[in-house]
Amino acid sequence: MRSTPRPVEKNLLTISDEVYIHPEPLGVVLIIGAWNYPWAVTLLPLVGAIAAGNAAVVKPSELSESSALLLHALLPRYLDKDLYPVVTGGVTETQELLRLRFDHIFYTGSSTVGKQVMEAAAHHLTPVTLELGGKSPCYIDKNCDIRVACRRITWGKFANCGQTCIAPDYILCDPCIQGRVVECIRQTLLEFYGADPKCSPDYGRIINRRHFSRVMGLMEGYAPVLGGQSDASQRYIAPTVLKDVPPHSRLMQEEIFGPLLPIVTVGDMDDAIRFINEREKPLALYIFCSNKKAVKRMIEETSSGGVTVNDVMMHYTLCSLPFGGVGKTHGAADGDSEGFWCPTILK
Ligand code: NAD
Repeated sequence: MRSTPRPVEKNLLTISDEVYIHPEPLGVVLIIGAWNYPWAVTLLPLVGAIAAGNAAVVKPSELSESSALLLHALLPRYLDKDLYPVVTGGVTETQELLRLRFDHIFYTGSSTVGKQVMEAAAHHLTPVTLELGGKSPCYIDKNCDIRVACRRITWGKFANCGQTCIAPDYILCDPCIQGRVVECIRQTLLEFYGADPKCSPDYGRIINRRHFSRVMGLMEGYAPVLGGQSDASQRYIAPTVLKDVPPHSRLMQEEIFGPLLPIVTVGDMDDAIRFINEREKPLALYIFCSNKKAVKRMIEETSSGGVTVNDVMMHYTLCSLPFGGVGKTHGAADGDSEGFWCPTILK
């Protein structure tokens, strides 16, 4: 398969030559998906692989078992099963696949497994794209519309029970607005999920027991100001907000990936910028602020995979923007420049 050559600018030495970039397929791509959006993280890379003329082996996550089985049953009905096989299974099967030589590996999941994928790829010098996780901060300026900010943050944080890679992980705000932030989130939760979110058809559950215990463990020693209830038999954890969370607490060390929303207080925007820059580069940064100059400064003085201003997660919805992280949240080892862009949406 060949695609149209793209002519490029010439120099004096090549002025009479034909100079162009000739894109060609890499060959066979291995796509390893995570469980939290089992269709998006397997089918979207597959669309890209097919569009670029590649064959692909799709390995969905064993944790979202029903989706994996459905994908295994459905894909061969629509695509050539020899060119696009679906391999189901867990760690053993994935490690078996990783021993084989592929022409590109596209992995979505945790950084821990990401390292193993990169190690296995290094053995064959296979280029990889790693879509990983991380902590995505959400700064609320005291001069913004706090009610609207909290409504949007509540939606982004608690959709899919907090199990979204670009969900707002924690809030940074001035202590003087913390009480109002908590109150606005409380009202929004009531509106979205009713008095008992456990009974709401719109509120999800944690994927399995291991992740349930992990998320519950993060809360240990803290008294939530909202939520905190749980039911292990259903893997239910209520939408939970914790205030005055110390920056060095366990909650602030790893990606939460669950329905816990810590609030860390900072003096002002400078403090917030310092806080963000002292940590790993976020996958996404959310800024709620009505002052355009201040917003611009925060974007310029921080580095993250993407930014949405006065909303959350919307940059993901635009096909015209690249998606991915920088630094630890994105491990494209093939010279892919996505990580050097900062897709930004300003509202
Ligand atoms: P997971 O446990 O489903 O693992 C992902 C894949 O790796 C699965 O297919 C699994 O079979 C395989 N795997 C697991 N352990 C392995 C091992 N030891 N060796 C080889 N393969 C192994 O998913 P997860 O890691 O819990 O995913 C959640 C993470 O994914 C979060 O950090 C989240 O932020 C991130 N994520 C990122 C994006 C993004 O686009 N950046 C999207 C979704 C999820």
